[in-house]
Amino acid sequence: HKSALTRDGTQIAVLANVGDAEDTRIAIENGMDGVGLYRLEQIYLGRQHPPSTAELLDAMQTTLQPAKGLPVYVRLLDVGADKPLPFIDMPREQNPSLGQRGIRFLMQYPELLQTQMDALLQLSSDFDLHILVPMVTLPSDMAAVEEALKDATSRARPSKNPKLGAMIETPVAALSAADISKHASFLSFGTNDLTQYSFAADRENPSVDAYFDDAHDAIFRLIGMVHEDVPDMPLSVCGELAGRSDATSRLLECGITSLSVVPLSIPAVKEVVRDCRRTPNG
Ligand code: PEP
Ligand code: MG
Repeated sequence: HKSALTRDGTQIAVLANVGDAEDTRIAIENGMDGVGLYRLEQIYLGRQHPPSTAELLDAMQTTLQPAKGLPVYVRLLDVGADKPLPFIDMPREQNPSLGQRGIRFLMQYPELLQTQMDALLQLSSDFDLHILVPMVTLPSDMAAVEEALKDATSRARPSKNPKLGAMIETPVAALSAADISKHASFLSFGTNDLTQYSFAADRENPSVDAYFDDAHDAIFRLIGMVHEDVPDMPLSVCGELAGRSDATSRLLECGITSLSVVPLSIPAVKEVVRDCRRTPNG
């Protein structure tokens, strides 16, 4: 439950990936420093109607209740043609993972984005709230979310403003970090998708497993380049690479200061961090 400090004294936040209240409870028991990725998909999939602002707020409060006082990062709904919503008649796409998913999908259905912003602004009065934008490719994706947040803020006039950050899950987002960062207070690497899109290998397809290597030099190189391009930007990893003990020290050398992992991995990741140096000669 203590903070994880590297041998050269840098504190690394070890956060949890959660989908519901049970995940958060287990993560608290395992010494989480906060919620690094709250995936909202569970709330939406399997419903016949989209949740109202009040229903969404209630679900988010239930999941995050045990994390009050700690930083929480809630990701906007990340669905698309591969994870269809039962209450939207979505056009079939030939190549769904290269189609309307994540923020691209939300921009097609602005009322879904608006409900999330309204609920998140209400949530922000009780939590140290950060909002993550999934599947960012262009700086304009972030600009659109900034605009939606501004609209919601002018409606709600909240006492506290949540921070906005971009998920870096496509190679072009990593290569455009400087421009994306004009619209972001932090960046979080979704290494599952970053690997899928860098290697052009479907993360769910076992027949191309050999091409899906999330600890490949190329992935660290992309992360390191982002750190060089935006050295003051807080960087985290919330893909599965964050929980791999063989990757921790390299991630810290690439400028990562927070890792978000499945709840049961928190103690092991903290233990590995305590054995790392942030800089090889530090
Ligand atoms: C990722 O892509 O690494 C990520 C954290 O998002 P998801 O696994 O939900 O796509
Ligand atoms: Mg992803």
